Amino acid sequence: MATTQFEPLPDLAAAEPSLGTLVMKFGGTSVGDPQKLKDVARRLVDARAAGNRVVAVLSAMGDTTDDLVRLAYEVSPLPKPRELDMLISVGERISCALAAMAIHDLGAEAISLTGSQAGIVTDTVHGRAKIVDVRARRIHEALDQDRIVLVAGFQGVSTDFDITTLGRGGSDTTAVALAAALGADACEIYTDVDGVFTADPRLVPGARKLHAVSYEEMLEMAASGAKVLALRSVEFARNHGVKLHVRSTFTGEEGTWITEEDERMLEKAMISGVTHTLEEAVYRVSGTDRADLFDALADASVSVDTIIQTGDDIVFSAPVEDRAATEAALGGLDSNWEERAHLGKVSVIGAGMKSHPGIAARTFQTLRDLGVEPDLVATSPIKIAFYVSQRDVERTVIALHEAFELSSVEAERAHG
Ligand code: ASP
Ligand code: MG
Repeated sequence: MATTQFEPLPDLAAAEPSLGTLVMKFGGTSVGDPQKLKDVARRLVDARAAGNRVVAVLSAMGDTTDDLVRLAYEVSPLPKPRELDMLISVGERISCALAAMAIHDLGAEAISLTGSQAGIVTDTVHGRAKIVDVRARRIHEALDQDRIVLVAGFQGVSTDFDITTLGRGGSDTTAVALAAALGADACEIYTDVDGVFTADPRLVPGARKLHAVSYEEMLEMAASGAKVLALRSVEFARNHGVKLHVRSTFTGEEGTWITEEDERMLEKAMISGVTHTLEEAVYRVSGTDRADLFDALADASVSVDTIIQTGDDIVFSAPVEDRAATEAALGGLDSNWEERAHLGKVSVIGAGMKSHPGIAARTFQTLRDLGVEPDLVATSPIKIAFYVSQRDVERTVIALHEAFELSSVEAERAHG
Protein backbone atom coordinates (compact mmCIF):
# COMPACT_ATOMS: atom_id res chain seq x y z
CA MET A 1 0.00 0.00 0.00
CA ALA A 2 1.53 3.29 -1.06
CA THR A 3 1.70 5.89 1.64
CA THR A 4 0.43 9.32 0.87
CA GLN A 5 0.93 12.57 2.73
CA PHE A 6 -2.23 13.52 4.53
CA GLU A 7 -3.30 15.42 7.56
CA PRO A 8 -4.59 13.26 10.37
CA LEU A 9 -8.02 14.20 11.67
CA PRO A 10 -6.97 16.19 14.75
CA ASP A 11 -5.47 18.77 12.41
CA LEU A 12 -8.76 19.28 10.64
CA ALA A 13 -9.69 22.22 12.80
CA ALA A 14 -6.71 23.98 11.31
CA ALA A 15 -7.74 23.30 7.71
CA GLU A 16 -7.23 26.41 5.61
CA PRO A 17 -10.59 27.84 4.67
CA SER A 18 -10.56 27.53 0.91
CA LEU A 19 -13.13 30.09 -0.07
CA GLY A 20 -15.95 28.89 -2.18
CA THR A 21 -15.81 25.20 -1.36
CA LEU A 22 -19.28 23.87 -0.85
CA VAL A 23 -20.25 20.39 0.32
CA MET A 24 -23.78 19.49 -0.74
CA LYS A 25 -25.33 16.28 0.57
CA PHE A 26 -28.47 14.76 -0.93
CA GLY A 27 -30.52 12.16 0.91
CA GLY A 28 -32.20 9.05 -0.48
CA THR A 29 -35.51 10.66 -1.45
CA SER A 30 -33.67 13.51 -3.16
CA VAL A 31 -32.05 11.01 -5.55
CA GLY A 32 -35.01 8.61 -5.52
CA ASP A 33 -35.45 8.19 -9.30
CA PRO A 34 -33.67 9.05 -12.57
CA GLN A 35 -35.45 12.39 -12.95
CA LYS A 36 -34.58 13.43 -9.40
CA LEU A 37 -30.96 12.47 -10.01
CA LYS A 38 -30.95 14.68 -13.09
CA ASP A 39 -32.44 17.52 -11.03
CA VAL A 40 -29.65 17.09 -8.49
CA ALA A 41 -27.10 17.13 -11.32
CA ARG A 42 -28.58 20.41 -12.52
CA ARG A 43 -28.33 21.92 -9.04
CA LEU A 44 -24.69 20.88 -8.77
CA VAL A 45 -23.85 22.33 -12.17
CA ASP A 46 -25.57 25.59 -11.16
CA ALA A 47 -23.60 25.72 -7.90
CA ARG A 48 -20.40 25.19 -9.88
CA ALA A 49 -21.39 27.91 -12.37
CA ALA A 50 -21.94 30.28 -9.44
CA GLY A 51 -18.22 29.96 -8.68
CA ASN A 52 -18.10 27.24 -6.02
CA ARG A 53 -15.81 24.28 -5.84
CA VAL A 54 -18.52 21.65 -5.48
CA VAL A 55 -18.28 18.38 -3.59
CA ALA A 56 -21.51 16.40 -3.51
CA VAL A 57 -22.18 13.51 -1.16
CA LEU A 58 -25.04 11.28 -2.23
CA SER A 59 -27.11 8.69 -0.40
CA ALA A 60 -28.42 5.54 -2.02
CA MET A 61 -31.53 5.95 -4.19
CA GLY A 62 -34.79 5.61 -2.24
CA ASP A 63 -34.99 2.34 -0.31
CA THR A 64 -31.91 0.80 -1.89
CA THR A 65 -30.07 0.29 1.40
CA ASP A 66 -33.09 -1.39 3.02
CA ASP A 67 -33.48 -3.60 -0.05
CA LEU A 68 -29.82 -4.63 0.05
CA VAL A 69 -30.02 -5.46 3.76
CA ARG A 70 -33.14 -7.53 3.12
CA LEU A 71 -31.41 -9.33 0.26
CA ALA A 72 -28.52 -10.24 2.53
CA TYR A 73 -30.84 -11.82 5.09
CA GLU A 74 -32.67 -13.72 2.35
CA VAL A 75 -29.37 -15.37 1.51
CA SER A 76 -27.97 -15.82 4.99
CA PRO A 77 -29.44 -15.67 8.51
CA LEU A 78 -26.30 -14.10 9.93
CA PRO A 79 -24.28 -12.37 7.24
CA LYS A 80 -20.67 -11.63 8.10
CA PRO A 81 -20.38 -7.91 8.87
CA ARG A 82 -17.52 -7.48 6.41
CA GLU A 83 -19.58 -8.86 3.53
CA LEU A 84 -22.66 -6.93 4.59
CA ASP A 85 -20.63 -3.72 4.33
CA MET A 86 -19.33 -4.75 0.89
CA LEU A 87 -22.93 -5.18 -0.18
CA ILE A 88 -24.70 -2.18 1.30
CA SER A 89 -21.98 0.31 0.36
CA VAL A 90 -22.97 -0.27 -3.26
CA GLY A 91 -26.16 1.85 -3.11
CA GLU A 92 -24.26 5.11 -2.78
CA ARG A 93 -21.93 4.21 -5.64
CA ILE A 94 -24.90 3.76 -7.94
CA SER A 95 -26.19 7.27 -7.15
CA CYS A 96 -22.79 8.87 -7.69
CA ALA A 97 -22.04 7.15 -10.98
CA LEU A 98 -25.46 8.05 -12.37
CA ALA A 99 -25.19 11.66 -11.20
CA ALA A 100 -21.77 11.96 -12.86
CA MET A 101 -23.30 10.76 -16.14
CA ALA A 102 -26.10 13.30 -15.86
CA ILE A 103 -23.60 16.08 -15.16
CA HIS A 104 -21.58 15.14 -18.24
CA ASP A 105 -24.76 15.41 -20.31
CA LEU A 106 -25.14 18.97 -19.04
CA GLY A 107 -21.72 19.77 -20.43
CA ALA A 108 -19.80 19.92 -17.14
CA GLU A 109 -16.99 17.78 -15.78
CA ALA A 110 -17.57 15.40 -12.90
CA ILE A 111 -15.97 12.40 -11.25
CA SER A 112 -17.59 9.88 -8.92
CA LEU A 113 -15.54 8.38 -6.09
CA THR A 114 -16.21 5.64 -3.57
CA GLY A 115 -15.64 6.56 0.07
CA SER A 116 -12.35 4.73 -0.11
CA GLN A 117 -11.21 6.58 -3.25
CA ALA A 118 -12.23 9.84 -1.62
CA GLY A 119 -9.87 9.09 1.25
CA ILE A 120 -12.38 8.42 4.03
CA VAL A 121 -10.44 6.21 6.45
CA THR A 122 -12.29 4.54 9.31
CA ASP A 123 -11.69 2.22 12.22
CA THR A 124 -12.40 -1.48 11.71
CA VAL A 125 -15.89 -1.73 13.27
CA HIS A 126 -18.12 -2.95 10.44
CA GLY A 127 -21.63 -1.55 10.29
CA ARG A 128 -20.89 1.46 12.47
CA ALA A 129 -17.36 2.49 11.67
CA LYS A 130 -15.97 5.81 12.87
CA ILE A 131 -14.03 8.09 10.55
CA VAL A 132 -10.44 8.44 11.79
CA ASP A 133 -8.87 10.31 8.90
CA VAL A 134 -9.77 12.11 5.70
CA ARG A 135 -7.12 11.97 2.99
CA ALA A 136 -8.55 14.47 0.59
CA ARG A 137 -5.72 14.71 -1.92
CA ARG A 138 -7.68 13.13 -4.75
CA ILE A 139 -10.67 15.40 -4.14
CA HIS A 140 -8.43 18.47 -4.22
CA GLU A 141 -6.87 17.33 -7.48
CA ALA A 142 -10.26 16.82 -9.10
CA LEU A 143 -11.49 20.20 -7.87
CA ASP A 144 -8.34 21.82 -9.24
CA GLN A 145 -9.20 20.24 -12.60
CA ASP A 146 -12.52 22.05 -12.43
CA ARG A 147 -14.58 18.96 -11.80
CA ILE A 148 -17.62 18.45 -9.66
CA VAL A 149 -16.70 15.68 -7.23
CA LEU A 150 -19.32 13.10 -6.24
CA VAL A 151 -18.50 11.10 -3.15
CA ALA A 152 -20.41 7.98 -2.15
CA GLY A 153 -21.75 8.64 1.35
CA PHE A 154 -21.96 6.31 4.35
CA GLN A 155 -18.73 4.42 3.69
CA GLY A 156 -15.00 4.37 3.95
CA VAL A 157 -12.02 2.07 4.01
CA SER A 158 -10.74 0.72 7.29
CA THR A 159 -7.21 0.86 8.58
CA ASP A 160 -7.21 -2.87 7.63
CA PHE A 161 -8.16 -1.93 4.04
CA ASP A 162 -11.68 -3.33 4.19
CA ILE A 163 -14.79 -1.47 3.06
CA THR A 164 -16.76 -0.22 6.06
CA THR A 165 -20.07 1.58 6.53
CA LEU A 166 -20.78 4.31 9.05
CA GLY A 167 -24.18 3.23 10.39
CA ARG A 168 -27.62 4.09 9.06
CA GLY A 169 -27.93 7.71 8.04
CA GLY A 170 -24.14 7.85 7.76
CA SER A 171 -24.00 9.93 4.57
CA ASP A 172 -24.56 13.00 6.76
CA THR A 173 -21.35 12.12 8.59
CA THR A 174 -19.43 11.71 5.33
CA ALA A 175 -20.57 15.16 4.24
CA VAL A 176 -19.62 16.87 7.50
CA ALA A 177 -16.24 15.13 7.65
CA LEU A 178 -15.46 16.27 4.11
CA ALA A 179 -16.61 19.81 4.86
CA ALA A 180 -14.24 19.86 7.84
CA ALA A 181 -11.33 18.36 5.91
CA LEU A 182 -11.78 20.69 2.95
CA GLY A 183 -12.34 23.80 5.06
CA ALA A 184 -15.67 24.29 3.26
CA ASP A 185 -17.76 27.40 3.90
CA ALA A 186 -20.75 25.31 4.84
CA CYS A 187 -22.19 21.85 4.57
CA GLU A 188 -25.62 21.84 2.98
CA ILE A 189 -27.84 18.89 3.81
CA TYR A 190 -30.57 18.59 1.18
CA THR A 191 -33.52 16.52 2.27
CA ASP A 192 -37.25 15.93 1.79
CA VAL A 193 -38.30 18.25 4.62
CA ASP A 194 -37.85 22.02 4.84
CA GLY A 195 -35.54 21.99 7.85
CA VAL A 196 -35.60 21.25 11.57
CA PHE A 197 -39.04 21.68 13.12
CA THR A 198 -40.32 22.42 16.63
CA ALA A 199 -41.87 18.93 16.56
CA ASP A 200 -42.59 16.24 13.99
CA PRO A 201 -44.97 18.08 11.59
CA ARG A 202 -46.77 14.84 10.77
CA LEU A 203 -47.85 14.69 14.38
CA VAL A 204 -48.18 18.39 15.20
CA PRO A 205 -49.64 20.32 12.27
CA GLY A 206 -48.72 23.67 13.87
CA ALA A 207 -45.03 22.75 14.13
CA ARG A 208 -42.76 25.49 12.78
CA LYS A 209 -39.48 25.42 10.97
CA LEU A 210 -36.64 26.74 13.13
CA HIS A 211 -34.24 29.17 11.45
CA ALA A 212 -31.33 28.42 13.73
CA VAL A 213 -30.47 25.70 16.23
CA SER A 214 -27.30 25.39 18.28
CA TYR A 215 -25.05 22.35 17.97
CA GLU A 216 -25.97 21.35 21.52
CA GLU A 217 -29.68 21.55 20.83
CA MET A 218 -29.31 19.61 17.60
CA LEU A 219 -27.28 16.95 19.39
CA GLU A 220 -30.04 16.52 21.96
CA MET A 221 -32.67 16.47 19.22
CA ALA A 222 -30.82 13.94 17.08
CA ALA A 223 -30.23 11.76 20.12
CA SER A 224 -33.88 11.84 21.11
CA GLY A 225 -35.77 11.08 17.96
CA ALA A 226 -35.28 13.84 15.37
CA LYS A 227 -34.37 11.88 12.25
CA VAL A 228 -33.30 14.77 10.09
CA LEU A 229 -29.56 14.43 10.87
CA ALA A 230 -27.46 11.49 12.01
CA LEU A 231 -26.25 12.08 15.58
CA ARG A 232 -22.62 11.49 14.75
CA SER A 233 -22.65 14.07 11.98
CA VAL A 234 -23.79 16.73 14.45
CA GLU A 235 -21.08 15.73 16.91
CA PHE A 236 -18.54 16.01 14.15
CA ALA A 237 -19.87 19.39 13.03
CA ARG A 238 -19.67 20.74 16.56
CA ASN A 239 -16.16 19.43 17.15
CA HIS A 240 -14.88 20.92 13.92
CA GLY A 241 -17.04 24.05 13.75
CA VAL A 242 -18.74 23.08 10.49
CA LYS A 243 -21.81 25.20 9.80
CA LEU A 244 -24.71 23.03 8.70
CA HIS A 245 -27.66 24.11 6.63
CA VAL A 246 -30.52 21.60 6.50
CA ARG A 247 -32.84 22.47 3.62
CA SER A 248 -35.28 21.11 1.11
CA THR A 249 -34.15 19.63 -2.19
CA PHE A 250 -37.44 20.55 -3.75
CA THR A 251 -37.65 24.30 -3.04
CA GLY A 252 -35.16 27.17 -3.05
CA GLU A 253 -36.14 28.17 0.51
CA GLU A 254 -33.73 28.70 3.37
CA GLY A 255 -33.82 25.84 5.81
CA THR A 256 -32.38 25.58 9.30
CA TRP A 257 -28.84 26.63 10.23
CA ILE A 258 -27.02 24.62 12.86
CA THR A 259 -24.22 26.68 14.36
CA GLU A 260 -22.67 27.93 17.57
CA GLU A 261 -25.18 29.14 20.12
CA ASP A 262 -25.81 32.85 19.84
CA GLU A 263 -27.67 35.19 22.14
CA ARG A 264 -30.78 35.33 20.05
CA MET A 265 -31.25 31.61 20.54
CA LEU A 266 -31.34 32.17 24.28
CA GLU A 267 -33.65 35.15 24.21
CA LYS A 268 -36.23 34.37 21.62
CA ALA A 269 -37.67 31.11 22.79
CA MET A 270 -37.11 29.14 25.95
CA ILE A 271 -37.77 25.90 24.19
CA SER A 272 -36.84 25.04 20.64
CA GLY A 273 -38.52 21.73 20.22
CA VAL A 274 -40.32 18.67 21.51
CA THR A 275 -38.99 15.40 20.12
CA HIS A 276 -40.18 11.88 20.64
CA THR A 277 -39.55 8.23 19.94
CA LEU A 278 -42.18 5.51 19.93
CA GLU A 279 -39.92 2.65 20.82
CA GLU A 280 -37.30 2.59 23.51
CA ALA A 281 -35.32 -0.28 24.96
CA VAL A 282 -35.24 0.15 28.74
CA TYR A 283 -33.70 -2.49 30.99
CA ARG A 284 -34.02 -3.07 34.72
CA VAL A 285 -31.11 -4.98 36.22
CA SER A 286 -30.51 -6.16 39.76
CA GLY A 287 -27.95 -8.25 41.57
CA THR A 288 -24.90 -7.03 39.75
CA ASP A 289 -22.11 -4.60 40.32
CA ARG A 290 -22.60 -1.31 38.52
CA ALA A 291 -19.07 -1.11 37.17
CA ASP A 292 -19.24 -4.69 35.84
CA LEU A 293 -22.54 -3.99 34.16
CA PHE A 294 -21.38 -0.90 32.29
CA ASP A 295 -18.06 -2.54 31.50
CA ALA A 296 -19.87 -5.40 29.80
CA LEU A 297 -22.04 -2.98 27.83
CA ALA A 298 -19.03 -0.93 26.78
CA ASP A 299 -17.25 -4.10 25.63
CA ALA A 300 -20.27 -4.84 23.48
CA SER A 301 -20.02 -1.30 21.97
CA VAL A 302 -23.46 -0.42 23.36
CA SER A 303 -23.74 3.27 24.20
CA VAL A 304 -26.04 3.62 27.16
CA ASP A 305 -28.31 6.65 27.34
CA THR A 306 -30.35 7.29 30.50
CA ILE A 307 -29.11 5.59 33.68
CA ILE A 308 -31.12 5.63 36.90
CA GLN A 309 -30.46 3.83 40.14
CA THR A 310 -33.41 3.07 42.41
CA GLY A 311 -32.46 1.07 45.49
CA ASP A 312 -30.59 -2.00 44.30
CA ASP A 313 -31.98 -1.78 40.80
CA ILE A 314 -30.24 -0.11 37.92
CA VAL A 315 -32.43 1.06 35.08
CA PHE A 316 -30.89 2.15 31.80
CA SER A 317 -31.82 2.68 28.19
CA ALA A 318 -29.83 1.71 25.11
CA PRO A 319 -30.43 2.05 21.37
CA VAL A 320 -33.17 -0.23 20.05
CA GLU A 321 -30.83 -1.30 17.20
CA ASP A 322 -28.40 -2.62 19.81
CA ARG A 323 -30.96 -4.85 21.50
CA ALA A 324 -29.23 -8.11 20.56
CA ALA A 325 -25.83 -6.86 21.73
CA THR A 326 -27.34 -5.52 24.97
CA GLU A 327 -29.13 -8.77 25.73
CA ALA A 328 -25.98 -10.76 25.03
CA ALA A 329 -23.99 -8.53 27.40
CA LEU A 330 -26.63 -8.83 30.14
CA GLY A 331 -26.82 -12.58 29.63
CA GLY A 332 -23.09 -12.87 30.27
CA LEU A 333 -23.42 -11.33 33.74
CA ASP A 334 -24.57 -12.99 36.91
CA SER A 335 -27.66 -10.81 37.26
CA ASN A 336 -31.41 -10.62 36.98
CA TRP A 337 -32.69 -8.40 34.26
CA GLU A 338 -35.80 -7.64 32.32
CA GLU A 339 -36.63 -5.37 29.44
CA ARG A 340 -39.47 -2.97 30.06
CA ALA A 341 -41.71 -2.99 27.04
CA HIS A 342 -44.09 -0.47 25.46
CA LEU A 343 -42.27 2.68 26.41
CA GLY A 344 -41.67 5.74 24.29
CA LYS A 345 -39.74 8.87 25.14
CA VAL A 346 -40.61 12.55 24.98
CA SER A 347 -37.94 15.26 25.24
CA VAL A 348 -38.31 18.99 25.69
CA ILE A 349 -35.19 20.73 24.35
CA GLY A 350 -34.01 24.32 24.35
CA ALA A 351 -30.87 26.36 25.01
CA GLY A 352 -33.11 28.98 26.65
CA MET A 353 -33.74 26.55 29.50
CA LYS A 354 -30.42 27.58 30.99
CA SER A 355 -31.68 31.10 31.64
CA HIS A 356 -35.43 30.65 32.10
CA PRO A 357 -36.64 28.95 35.27
CA GLY A 358 -39.95 27.14 35.35
CA ILE A 359 -39.56 24.84 32.36
CA ALA A 360 -39.74 21.71 34.50
CA ALA A 361 -42.75 23.11 36.35
CA ARG A 362 -44.64 23.79 33.14
CA THR A 363 -43.67 20.42 31.69
CA PHE A 364 -44.91 18.43 34.67
CA GLN A 365 -48.06 20.52 35.07
CA THR A 366 -48.89 19.73 31.48
CA LEU A 367 -48.39 16.02 32.14
CA ARG A 368 -50.54 16.19 35.26
CA ASP A 369 -53.35 17.91 33.37
CA LEU A 370 -53.16 15.15 30.76
CA GLY A 371 -53.15 12.43 33.39
CA VAL A 372 -49.90 11.07 31.98
CA GLU A 373 -47.49 9.44 34.40
CA PRO A 374 -43.85 10.16 33.42
CA ASP A 375 -41.30 7.53 34.21
CA LEU A 376 -37.51 7.77 34.41
CA VAL A 377 -36.99 11.48 34.10
CA ALA A 378 -33.57 12.48 32.77
CA THR A 379 -32.24 15.98 32.31
CA SER A 380 -29.32 17.92 30.89
CA PRO A 381 -28.84 21.70 31.08
CA ILE A 382 -30.90 22.04 27.90
CA LYS A 383 -33.21 19.00 28.02
CA ILE A 384 -35.92 17.38 30.09
CA ALA A 385 -36.70 13.88 28.86
CA PHE A 386 -38.99 11.22 30.27
CA TYR A 387 -40.42 7.89 29.30
CA VAL A 388 -44.14 7.39 28.98
CA SER A 389 -46.31 4.55 27.86
CA GLN A 390 -46.22 4.24 24.06
CA ARG A 391 -49.91 5.09 23.74
CA ASP A 392 -49.40 8.43 25.55
CA VAL A 393 -46.47 9.68 23.46
CA GLU A 394 -48.37 11.50 20.75
CA ARG A 395 -50.83 13.39 22.93
CA THR A 396 -48.01 14.35 25.28
CA VAL A 397 -46.00 15.86 22.41
CA ILE A 398 -49.02 17.78 21.14
CA ALA A 399 -49.83 19.13 24.62
CA LEU A 400 -46.27 20.23 25.37
CA HIS A 401 -45.92 21.89 21.97
CA GLU A 402 -49.06 23.85 22.85
CA ALA A 403 -47.98 24.58 26.45
CA PHE A 404 -44.73 26.15 25.29
CA GLU A 405 -46.50 28.05 22.50
CA LEU A 406 -44.23 26.62 19.86
CA SER A 407 -46.73 27.28 17.08
CA SER A 408 -46.50 31.02 17.59
CA VAL A 409 -44.27 33.30 15.54
CA GLU A 410 -42.30 34.03 18.70
CA ALA A 411 -40.92 30.52 18.48
CA GLU A 412 -39.06 31.46 15.33
CA ARG A 413 -35.52 32.63 15.65
CA ALA A 414 -33.75 35.05 13.45
CA HIS A 415 -30.35 34.14 12.15
CA GLY A 416 -27.97 36.26 10.20
N1 ASP B 1 -28.09 4.87 2.55
C1 ASP B 1 -27.72 4.81 3.96
C2 ASP B 1 -28.95 4.57 4.81
O1 ASP B 1 -30.03 4.39 4.28
C3 ASP B 1 -26.96 6.00 4.41
C4 ASP B 1 -27.67 7.33 4.28
O2 ASP B 1 -28.62 7.45 3.53
O3 ASP B 1 -27.25 8.27 4.94
O4 ASP B 1 -28.85 4.49 6.00
MG1 MG C 1 -30.70 10.72 6.68
